Amino acid sequence: MSKIQMTTPLVEMDGDEMTRILWQMIKDELILPFIDLKSEYYDLGLAHRDETDDKVTFDSAYATKKYGVAVKCATITPNAARVTEYNLKEMWKSPNGTIRAILDGTVFRAPIIVKGIEPCVKNWESPITIARHAYGDVYKASEMKIPGAGKAELVYTDENGNETRELIHTFNGPGIIQGMHNLNGSIESFARCCFNYALDIKQSLWFATKDTISKKYDHTFKDIFQEIFDAEYKEKFDAAGIEYFYTLIDDAVARVMKSKGGFIWACKNYDGDVMSDMLSSAFGSLAMMTSVLVSPDGTYEYEAAHGTVQRHYYKHLKGEETSTNSVATIFAWTGALRKRGELDGISELSDFADKLEKATIATIESGKMTKDLALITTMKDVTTLNSEDFIKAIRKELEATL
Ligand code: NAP
Ligand code: MG
Repeated sequence: MSKIQMTTPLVEMDGDEMTRILWQMIKDELILPFIDLKSEYYDLGLAHRDETDDKVTFDSAYATKKYGVAVKCATITPNAARVTEYNLKEMWKSPNGTIRAILDGTVFRAPIIVKGIEPCVKNWESPITIARHAYGDVYKASEMKIPGAGKAELVYTDENGNETRELIHTFNGPGIIQGMHNLNGSIESFARCCFNYALDIKQSLWFATKDTISKKYDHTFKDIFQEIFDAEYKEKFDAAGIEYFYTLIDDAVARVMKSKGGFIWACKNYDGDVMSDMLSSAFGSLAMMTSVLVSPDGTYEYEAAHGTVQRHYYKHLKGEETSTNSVATIFAWTGALRKRGELDGISELSDFADKLEKATIATIESGKMTKDLALITTMKDVTTLNSEDFIKAIRKELEATL
């Protein structure tokens, strides 16, 4: 069988720890035997980020802007322990934060549904997609430790040098402060991304913030969404038979738990981070969730929603067997290959992505799965496979369909 040819390179962002191990296995077993892969490779592994003073992260984001589609492996966001572990020059920022700040846009995360893995919220019949704003707020914040008594203020200086001040707090002793921002332009594109996606998949859109407490910050999000909806989308939503509604974040959480699913839940950056982990765990596993960053200029970055699975990696380093779920990382590849196929008019590439996804789901539904799923499945007589054998089982299933 001849390999599928590509015309435009895919931006490939390699990563860290256990997911880096899976990355190579996925390429070797599920991609390279079938596709003449054209990729522009960026090594976002922590050691290489440190070597390049994090330049490689920026370069990979600019390459994504250039080519339009990227696939990213999970990466370590350094903390103090990682600085010691990797002997880092600096505590480099979150690569996802850097990439999102450059690409802007919205991250859509949806659970991968398979028979035999039932959501622990019994009334959820359909997937709930989280639309996470990917710019600003606490991910682009400046923070300060206040050593002792004194006054902290927010100061805005306009282009003519006029100052506007807002008191944060008068400190009597030590404390902490944080200054964060967002941009009307970014919130507008977040809103349009969500409305377009809702129309695309014909599902209602929910949006929630804490505007009763955050009367300027969160309220601006609420207002921008409503203005754009009324001016540009109301009629289209009516015609599609879907709705947009806004509510408070705590009310939204309560309603989500009681819902049947089957809608998009738009969240600010931090809420989306937290809620997507909650949803993916409730739907089955962190490793059963797709994630794609859609930017306003139409670029797509696909990744897994989980991290680098550090605990499994340390076992792997000790030569012990691991059973790490590669589904989300496989779906990052299929998402990117399908989009590349669509953009370049290569239907074989998109078809291949569909088949690989089907083979992955069929493998699990036939009772072959990794430990995280074996522990929660309602299926009887399942076979728990190690990381590598699971990927090999998918390859077998895939080859049978090709
Ligand atoms: P994590 O890698 O998502 O893993 C947390 C736990 O969830 C694991 O210990 C494992 O549980 C389970 N898990 C996650 N993915 C799994 C998979 N594919 N298969 C099986 N089990 C899975 O989060 P973390 O341990 O908090 O973070 C590790 C590193 O990842 C950190 O350095 C963090 O900065 C980074 N991170 C990166 C991204 C990203 O690049 N998108 C996102 C989040 C975190 P058991 O150990 O119980 O089996
Ligand atoms: Mg997270």
